Amino acid sequence: MTDNTRLRIAIQKKGRLSDESKALLKACGLKINMKGESLIAHVENAPIDLLRVRDDDIPGLIMDGVCDLGIVGENVLEEELLMRQRANEKCDYVPLQKMAFGGCRLSLAVDKEFDYQGPESLAGLRIATTYPELLRRYFDEKGINFDVCLLSGSVEVAPRAGLADAICDLVSTGATLEANGLVETDVIYRSQARLIRRGGDFGDDKQALLDKLLTRMQGVMQAKE
Ligand code: ATP
Ligand code: ZN
Repeated sequence: MTDNTRLRIAIQKKGRLSDESKALLKACGLKINMKGESLIAHVENAPIDLLRVRDDDIPGLIMDGVCDLGIVGENVLEEELLMRQRANEKCDYVPLQKMAFGGCRLSLAVDKEFDYQGPESLAGLRIATTYPELLRRYFDEKGINFDVCLLSGSVEVAPRAGLADAICDLVSTGATLEANGLVETDVIYRSQARLIRRGGDFGDDKQALLDKLLTRMQGVMQAKE
């Protein structure tokens, strides 16, 4: 049985958001007992458990009410939201603070030899991405048709591998694009990490704990500014 009295926070287990998510919670005074690869890490000095999962799972865990809080990139959150809306599935969540990390943009990029004149140059072509819903929204707004090559990694090698004509991928410095002979053409979504909570009532004790945590987070983030 799950213990519903403990506040459950979902964070990325391993990746670009995990160190800063952990550091933020530690800076809020939480003593995290993290053992190796375990899924759950208990907080020793508060009734809080951390769930260490893939970032892609975090929005669903919140929207299904399985976890109380989560720290996730807005790109992943928005993609899940669009997917659930399309499927008429539950997408109940509350956006809380933006975090001062995880900044990136979702951009279109093409081979540097491509004669790019704007998104219409990609009409009828194949675009590789991990974010088909965000990509579709962008092209639907412009009334442009395209095909998708859905990849969960190595998107930047798709044009060279002959899998796609262009890509739509996350960029921060642009070094990965350059190393693969690609040029960024259009930013379709700007993202950073965000704290989200599930919908519904938390009950008095959990709500009090959440309020305390949020106040501490604000303090930590202000101190950093
Ligand atoms: P997981 O194994 O958890 O699924 P992942 O490979 O999907 O990990 P990461 O590469 O660790 O994810 O990125 C996590 C999040 O970090 C992204 O969804 C995005 O919000 C943010 N991010 C910030 N900068 C970048 C970048 N340059 N490339 C990719 N993601 C970035
Ligand atoms: Zn992921």
